[in-house]
Amino acid sequence: MTDPIVVVGGGAAGIFAAIGAAEKKAPVVLLEKNARLGLKLLITGKGRSNLTNTAPLDHFVQQFPGHGRFLYSAFANLSNNDLISFFHRLGVELKVERGGRVFPVSDRSKDVVSALTGYLTRLKVDVRTNTKVLGLLHKNGRVTGVMTEQGTVAGRAVIIATGGLSYPRTGSTGDGYAWARAVGHTVTDLRPSLVPLETEEKWVADVQGLTLKNVKVTVWGPKKRGEEFGEMLFTHFGVSGPIILTLSRLVVRELEQGPVRLTINLKPALNRETLERRLLRDFDKYSGKHLKNALKDLLPQKLIEPVLKLSRLEPHKPVHQVTKQERQLLLDTLQGLPLTVTAPRPIAEAIVTSGGVALKEINPKTMESKILSQLYFAGEILDVDGYTGGYNLQAAFSTGYLAGQSAAAGRNE
Ligand SMILES: Cc1cc2nc3c(=O)[nH]c(=O)nc-3n(C[C@H](O)[C@H](O)[C@H](O)COP(=O)(O)OP(=O)(O)OC[C@H]3O[C@@H](n4cnc5c(N)ncnc54)[C@H](O)[C@@H]3O)c2cc1C
Repeated sequence: MTDPIVVVGGGAAGIFAAIGAAEKKAPVVLLEKNARLGLKLLITGKGRSNLTNTAPLDHFVQQFPGHGRFLYSAFANLSNNDLISFFHRLGVELKVERGGRVFPVSDRSKDVVSALTGYLTRLKVDVRTNTKVLGLLHKNGRVTGVMTEQGTVAGRAVIIATGGLSYPRTGSTGDGYAWARAVGHTVTDLRPSLVPLETEEKWVADVQGLTLKNVKVTVWGPKKRGEEFGEMLFTHFGVSGPIILTLSRLVVRELEQGPVRLTINLKPALNRETLERRLLRDFDKYSGKHLKNALKDLLPQKLIEPVLKLSRLEPHKPVHQVTKQERQLLLDTLQGLPLTVTAPRPIAEAIVTSGGVALKEINPKTMESKILSQLYFAGEILDVDGYTGGYNLQAAFSTGYLAGQSAAAGRNE
């Protein structure tokens, strides 16, 4: 009897690898160390699964800084539209939200996971949960199977889809990196990405929970390094929220040289003159009040005291006594509230792992290793990480599906 294709890891990439191979009529064994499949998938998109994005292929590729081109073949083989049709066939209807983000209509990740596991059953994939893989078996330059805690499983091909290092309680503990290294693969530096940031300033804890919409955050090195416009959030340790997560990829790299300065423009839609006119109008309206009571139209209540403190202004100063120079200090803070990032949160709290199995050692058309024949990689274990918006899951689905199909089409000696 023919040895099966062995897929290691029952996350987004592993499930799609098993589907890709089984649809081509190959026998497939899917090994997952948890008691159930798709634990991380269940918590994606805050339990709603942002499965993909409606953006065109070129835009997709740009969402994977530095490494997007590697994904062209995988995305062309299973595009966002293919994925939407696929889920429609499985009975999971999808909807499009802000920024082209695609979610199940039911808003429930568990509907996605149960549709996928149902399909695996129909495809007769041999799913073995509670099965922890310990390493790879290989002979004469080709993979021959895997070693598990329960013994060996022979395979004509092995697809490693063990994920990255983030949220380890979902099973993503980076096991596959060691196996890749053991057979001669390079694993590039592993860093957290899409991760909240810790700041030196302790006042952020006083405003924790405060969300700022329509602000612009700039990352500074000796010069401007990057900026994002949108929504952010203060936490007990620093900052988080969509634009901070996006900038975190850059900040994490900058932090390797030392603390990183951020500025928040609280009113990016107004230039300095317009903002000053706006301020003067408010000062006029509240001329009999203290400064701290004159800013409530302009700023969220929680932010007034920190902004005044950072501008070195006395909160109880009567508004009519504020000098032009003091007004300039206030404008400086409103357009560039400073924060100093000292560290990212630990990788366990990151949405994705940046870095992984080096792409130059993988054939992008098949996901096969260039080092060991019939060994494939898919998903977050690869050195690809994208921004938020459904891109990371689509990359896991597409690379998994391509690896599965390629393994099924591969030599069967
Ligand atoms: C909180 C959170 C929210 C997210 N939300 C989104 C979102 O909405 N949209 C989006 O696009 N991306 C999102 N992501 C990112 C996305 O979830 C991942 O990029 C994606 O799940 C990676 O899929 P994967 O299959 O490569 O890895 P994983 O999903 O991590 O799966 C790896 C699997 O391998 C198993 N495994 C590991 N080691 C072994 C072993 N030794 N033996 C057997 N099995 C093993 C693990 O138990 C796990 O089930 C989110 C991530 C997090 C943490």
